[in-house]
Amino acid sequence: MKPSHIEHIGIAVKNLEESIKYYEEVLGLECYNIEEVKDQKVKTAFFKVGEVKIELLESTDPEGPIGKYIEKKGEGIHHIAFAVENIEDKLKDAEDKGVRLIDASPRKGAEGLDIAFLHPKSTFGVLTELCEDKNK
Ligand code: ZN
Repeated sequence: MKPSHIEHIGIAVKNLEESIKYYEEVLGLECYNIEEVKDQKVKTAFFKVGEVKIELLESTDPEGPIGKYIEKKGEGIHHIAFAVENIEDKLKDAEDKGVRLIDASPRKGAEGLDIAFLHPKSTFGVLTELCEDKNK
């Protein structure tokens, strides 16, 4: 698979505004983008730490994936996203190696990236996102 780097770390939060304050005022990072991903029923906020981003995720619907996650597990690290090239091939490759896929083919995520998730049951408990920036 050979990801080039960790693209971002996804963190589930109950309240985007309050958590943005922590990242800005305590950590001293700057929120450079807030975006709603309707498809995923989330509002996201992004920060950069070097090459790695922090993606805060607030649910816009208690029945959405982040709403359910927080209900079950509370706030905290939700997923890790690896930057890859040729995401379709990488997904196929993972599947061939016996990994259960959440997304059989990539879809559009925040920031216009093509993204797909691997099932945490196949990845030792870490919800894993692959993403590719095809606009580069
Ligand atoms: Zn993500």
